[in-house]
Amino acid sequence: MMDTLYPFRLKLQFIMFTRLYLHIPFCPRKCPYCAFVSRESDHAPDSYVDLLLEEMRLVSAGLAPGRPLESIYFGGGTPSLLEPRQVALLIDRAARTFGLAANAEITLEVNPGTVDHERLAGFRAASVNRLSLGVQSFDERMLATLGRVHSARQAQDAFTAARTAGFADVGIDLIHALPGQTAEMWRADLGQALRLAPEHISVYGLSVEEGTPFAARYGGDDPLLPDDDLAAGMFEAADDLLTAHGYEHYEIANYALPGRRSRHNSGYWRRDGYLGLGAAAHSLLRDKGFGTRFGNTADIDGYATSIRAGSLPRCDEMILTLSDAMAEFMFLGLRLAEGVEFAAFEREFGCGMEETFGEAISELVSLGLLQRNDTGVRLTRRGMLLSNRVFVRFIA
Ligand code: SF4
Repeated sequence: MMDTLYPFRLKLQFIMFTRLYLHIPFCPRKCPYCAFVSRESDHAPDSYVDLLLEEMRLVSAGLAPGRPLESIYFGGGTPSLLEPRQVALLIDRAARTFGLAANAEITLEVNPGTVDHERLAGFRAASVNRLSLGVQSFDERMLATLGRVHSARQAQDAFTAARTAGFADVGIDLIHALPGQTAEMWRADLGQALRLAPEHISVYGLSVEEGTPFAARYGGDDPLLPDDDLAAGMFEAADDLLTAHGYEHYEIANYALPGRRSRHNSGYWRRDGYLGLGAAAHSLLRDKGFGTRFGNTADIDGYATSIRAGSLPRCDEMILTLSDAMAEFMFLGLRLAEGVEFAAFEREFGCGMEETFGEAISELVSLGLLQRNDTGVRLTRRGMLLSNRVFVRFIA
């Protein structure tokens, strides 16, 4: 269901967001495991950048001045297909439209097969101050299985080029539990990442998504996929190795050197308001109630048609109730290693966490999935491994 601009103009008087996400739905080649919305292209067209600029204009119509943006995140898709001049234009327009804090974190996701030193230096000059490098693996066999367009050498070169281009904050993304991957291969990937010494490492377990070529190839219990024990062992190996090298395991899938957590993504887990622009982008606006979530249509052509007609292409709007917001507070906040605090819950909702979720908390503590202390609750390492079993207990 599409909404017209008018009803949103009224609501925008009350909204609040301090984070901006821009979705760039273009990739040099579609990876067979990927379920993100993107279309094959060797560049991000100016016509799409124009749509993002127009969407900013439409959103800002009737918008009361709020707090400036604390972070901007270019995600995708492959945002590194943008030209530096396009990135500079989007950042500049976002700053003039919404305001931008002087120390804002500005992240761009980079596919190592799409960049060289000059391009990265251009992103840095455009005010990007953090890169997230989609390496996925340093093993050529695994990169071939994943259908990535880059080699392990290119990934290392992209990291080195990012440093020489002046980036002091670089993250590396890795995936484990890949078809044919052994524990030794995974440890080698972690070791190679550590040798590069990035500020941030994200470690995702492969999830075979419905509708992808991987689902057809590895559906059911394909013997090439690591079994649950091996996958759990890989998660634990990452935890042991990365924390031993000084990285804080601050979220289920994320590790950072002290002071180098992703501020933008941390905002998602704390339920900060954020605005998503572009096809398939999602938003949480923190209004006077408990927040409103919605997405933009995932149809790239439909997104363009709607924006050109002066209408925001929003769908699946959900005005959160008290119980929705309480559940989100728990299952998003528990993703963070520090967990959720009793006092913060009470401040937000005016009632006690244990009064609301006491039964679920006690059961999860007795199963060894949650740990409770005087100030709050957090996942145990076993709870991190079985986090979906935990989160479902907070959903009404
Ligand atoms: S580059 Fe990233 S977004 Fe694009 S198809 Fe591959 S995994 Fe998906």
